[in-house]
Amino acid sequence: ENYHAVLTENRKLFNELQELKGNIRVFCRVRPFLPGQGAPNTVVEYVGEDGELVVTNPTRPGKDGLRQFKFNKVYSPTATQADVFSDIRPLVRSALDGYNVCIFAYGQTGSGKTYTMTGPDGASEEDWGVNYRALNDLFKISQSRKGNISYEVGVQMVEIYNEQILSIFLFIACGAILFVFLDLHTLGILSTTQQNGLAVPDASMYPVTSTSDVITLMDIGLQNRAVGCTALNERSSRSHSIVTVHVRGKDMKTGSVLYGNLHLVDLAGSERVDRSEVTGDRLREAQHINKSLSSLGDVIFSLASKNAHVPYRNSKLTQILQSSLGGRAKTLMFVQLNPDAISYSESMSTLKFAERVSGVELGAAKTSK
Ligand code: ADP
Repeated sequence: ENYHAVLTENRKLFNELQELKGNIRVFCRVRPFLPGQGAPNTVVEYVGEDGELVVTNPTRPGKDGLRQFKFNKVYSPTATQADVFSDIRPLVRSALDGYNVCIFAYGQTGSGKTYTMTGPDGASEEDWGVNYRALNDLFKISQSRKGNISYEVGVQMVEIYNEQILSIFLFIACGAILFVFLDLHTLGILSTTQQNGLAVPDASMYPVTSTSDVITLMDIGLQNRAVGCTALNERSSRSHSIVTVHVRGKDMKTGSVLYGNLHLVDLAGSERVDRSEVTGDRLREAQHINKSLSSLGDVIFSLASKNAHVPYRNSKLTQILQSSLGGRAKTLMFVQLNPDAISYSESMSTLKFAERVSGVELGAAKTSK
């Protein structure tokens, strides 16, 4: 990639991204029926190229049962991982230009959040989700800009479970050929996180020299996530997982330095838990999930209504994401949908949440500090 071509491309992307700035984009993805799921009974009536989605209430067949939604984009079950990534690539890349970017997946358990963000278990390159593709892309571009901009890229993976932040791993790649072992705090890369007043526990650091190292680390991270946990799926559906890419870029000619970050978030399942039926640990988990998802909603909606007070501090999730929600940050939400008629009522509450988020204009807002 030649530098001038990169600059021209950047200018083009910049214009596209101006549009995104300060807005939350909502992309809805409908997952396919899975093999062995029985006779498919779908609630999805229509998926339009312009982001229109029509769903039907299985208990009210006919016109009365139809509900229409409009998002920035809707993916039908046949959309591939590559289709999805090509639409968000400009957003991912803008972290290298000094933006704060947040991409999160919202939806009930089993709706495809992890599939979109990470991919299926043991995914081949073709099935890679957003996390792998984004890291791969950022590494390639930062290497192609070598000589013009010198990048230091740190990657961190944390899990929030019951309002506790568990660190999974942290590593840093410096420059394109020489990779060194450094401390994110020394580099100042973690300053945003520190400003948010959050103590994220220290994690192991690994040197990285290639994209395949990145993939290996992601895999280690995901395996670590499973350690000590008998039922991974059970547990992962009740925790938020956040992959953060911290970027520091130094312009080799002017010496000016830019900072950007990218948060990739696989949220806990949004399903309502019947409180009358659960007790103990399960109840505590449900309460924490409710609290953090509703805090996320509160932050988004108060930014939308330009409230002076934005309640970032009400949950660990919103504290970590603070720098990437509001202001000049760019935010994208994947709304995941299970098309099965059995999931209709959960799907409707997911869609209603998404509808509130979509079209929401996030102006610069004062923080709660
Ligand atoms: P969640 O993270 O929301 O709980 P998962 O990502 O685990 O949901 O998806 C549930 C199941 O559906 C998994 O077996 C996953 O591989 C499959 N799945 C989800 N989305 C797709 C898709 N777009 N194409 C193929 N399979 C999918």
